[in-house]
Amino acid sequence: MLHDRNLSIRKIIIRYCVRFLNKDMNKKKNESVNCDVCSAECCKYVAIEIDEPTDKNDYDNIRWYLMHKNINVFIDHDDDWYIEFKAVCNHLGADNKCAIYNNRPAICADHGVNDGVCEFFGEESPFKVCFKSETEFEKYMKNND
Ligand code: SF4
Ligand code: SF4
Repeated sequence: MLHDRNLSIRKIIIRYCVRFLNKDMNKKKNESVNCDVCSAECCKYVAIEIDEPTDKNDYDNIRWYLMHKNINVFIDHDDDWYIEFKAVCNHLGADNKCAIYNNRPAICADHGVNDGVCEFFGEESPFKVCFKSETEFEKYMKNND
């Protein structure tokens, strides 16, 4: 449906968790990330970059996204726009650990290690603005016209 609506997805930045099976491995991979103190925040959503809206049709599409449950749209600190799907990974265990750790996607392994500080330990919010409803988005657009 995204394709049908002529929305280009430029880059997938699925942000996933780095779940370390034991503390030794955790320490070796990244001294600054201790996933034991976090409830696996990065295993609970997918974010995909979208084009910045520039015309009425683009604005209308974003309104449409935001009419759905568990969908947010946010602008990051580089002014890039993303659609965010709030969805828990099927491989996240009840203990908040990865059940397929040795076979997890590379994007998971890199998160918080090679891919910068994770959202739990980062000093600033991962987004500059986050819209959780069409009303919030419409208000923002009105104030920034
Ligand atoms: S958000 Fe950071 S601390 Fe939390 S599970 Fe992911 S990598 Fe670990
Ligand atoms: S595969 Fe594992 S590390 Fe990756 S998002 Fe799922 S639970 Fe998290």
